[in-house]
Amino acid sequence: MSTERIKKLHDGRQLYQKRFAAGELIKLNPTDKAKANPQSLRLAINAKCYECCNGISWHNRTRYCNIFDCGLWQVRPHAKDATKEECQKWQET
Ligand code: SF4
Repeated sequence: MSTERIKKLHDGRQLYQKRFAAGELIKLNPTDKAKANPQSLRLAINAKCYECCNGISWHNRTRYCNIFDCGLWQVRPHAKDATKEECQKWQET
């Protein structure tokens, strides 16, 4: 990655942190994001998986979810990051 691009990313991150600290931005959980944009199927799925995991380490729990007969399993968040075998292995550890 070029130095110029890294500097732009750094500047953008600093601006975000500054605006967040000033209260200009708010961080929504997946349920609130879905409520704010009710037409989005992606956000609705994310919200359902978030609620299914009670919000606890939900990124990993949905990535490695082993409830294979759930209707959302194929489209759960981060589904492309883990195979069925990896999900089974993660649940055993
Ligand atoms: S895919 Fe997994 S985490 Fe998402 S709703 Fe179904 S069982 Fe819950």
